[in-house]
Amino acid sequence: MENLSTDLDRKGLIKKHEFIRVIIQCLYSLGYEESAACLESEANVSYKSAEFKLLESQILGADWDDCLDTLYGIKDLTDEVRASAVFLVFKQCLLEILSRGDDSMALALLRKQISSLNVGKEKVHKLAFGILSGNEMGKVEDHIISELRKRLLTKLEKVLPPPITLPERRLEHLVEMAVSAQIDSCMYHSSIDAVTICEDHHCGRDQIPTETYQILTDHKNEVWFVQFSNNGQYLASSSSDCSAILWEVMDDGELRLKHTLQSHQNPVSFVAWSPDDTMLLTCGNAEVLKMWDVQTAVTLKREFTCGTLMATRLRLGEACGCPSQEIHMWDIAGTWAKPLKYKGHMQNKYVIRSCFGGFNSNFIASGSEDSNVYIWNRRSSDPLEILVGHSMTVNCVSWNPKRPNLLASASDDHTIRIWGPCSSDNMKP
Ligand SMILES: [Zn+2]
Repeated sequence: MENLSTDLDRKGLIKKHEFIRVIIQCLYSLGYEESAACLESEANVSYKSAEFKLLESQILGADWDDCLDTLYGIKDLTDEVRASAVFLVFKQCLLEILSRGDDSMALALLRKQISSLNVGKEKVHKLAFGILSGNEMGKVEDHIISELRKRLLTKLEKVLPPPITLPERRLEHLVEMAVSAQIDSCMYHSSIDAVTICEDHHCGRDQIPTETYQILTDHKNEVWFVQFSNNGQYLASSSSDCSAILWEVMDDGELRLKHTLQSHQNPVSFVAWSPDDTMLLTCGNAEVLKMWDVQTAVTLKREFTCGTLMATRLRLGEACGCPSQEIHMWDIAGTWAKPLKYKGHMQNKYVIRSCFGGFNSNFIASGSEDSNVYIWNRRSSDPLEILVGHSMTVNCVSWNPKRPNLLASASDDHTIRIWGPCSSDNMKP
């Protein structure tokens, strides 16, 4: 006969009989009962353990005393699990006694045996209440009794631990865990596409922006801020040339100048989109806040003073006392004792802005005073990519919220760089 005690793999992690057992369970759960039974016969392996088979025959035959003996005879059960399993059996037993009209025997069972089980008073009270209120009483048809015994077996399958039973959908669960682990270890993962289980999962660099796709040179001085609109169709930039520019994102990812917003008297330090992307706020440094209609580039209503945003170009130590050379990520729920930290970029003198990006916000991007753009996978403190191209400090980055492989960076070298995946070899001048 075939030796089923052997291991299936070289590492000795998978026992052959256990592997066949979960396959048989899977076949049954998928409805391939003939195939499952055929495999059970051919491999001489059953997905049900000897103990569970015994319980099955005792329960279907209403052999309650032997059934209880079996449960009390199973080794390695915790008291809690054993009590829960015995309670389920007693409950079925009680229902069948009541169905026969033997109320006194039912009450004796409830008082002497069920109430002494360590299953929590609530459960026992609920059962007693059911009897008193009539929910559990009355003649029950034989076919219903038979069905309830099968349901009891299903419940016991969930209560009793492996290897007596197998957890539900064991093979599917193992495959799900394997796929999830592969996705979790995929540092470039930025896709909503379904992952195939036919091969090991791996995403390439082309999932995220890594190469300059386009250089925007319309600003006449340092570019301090960039922000994609919420719908990903526009980019707004602001500069020390006292202007802001609205850019439109074309279908091919190229950006075209839509409007130049030129009525500030001072450098424009900050822009912000309205939630519906129909309006844009621009803030002049120590000056006024202006609200613009995105489509017409007309200023709306009155101007607002905004002296509070002056700090954006101050030295970091003076402005907020943040530790330099690190980005910290905190969870809003406050469950983390410490923030996650991201290192590698340079941040000594100025405020350098960072952002989330990519599928499921899996990535963090940041400008840097060494002229590079840094990208981290959220799970790692070391940079995943360092994008080289700017010639001076990169002040701000913005990741397109609708195009996970499009990133914009603003630099003191007067340019905005649009970064795309490495497969895009046709850089727009
Ligand atoms: Zn991936």
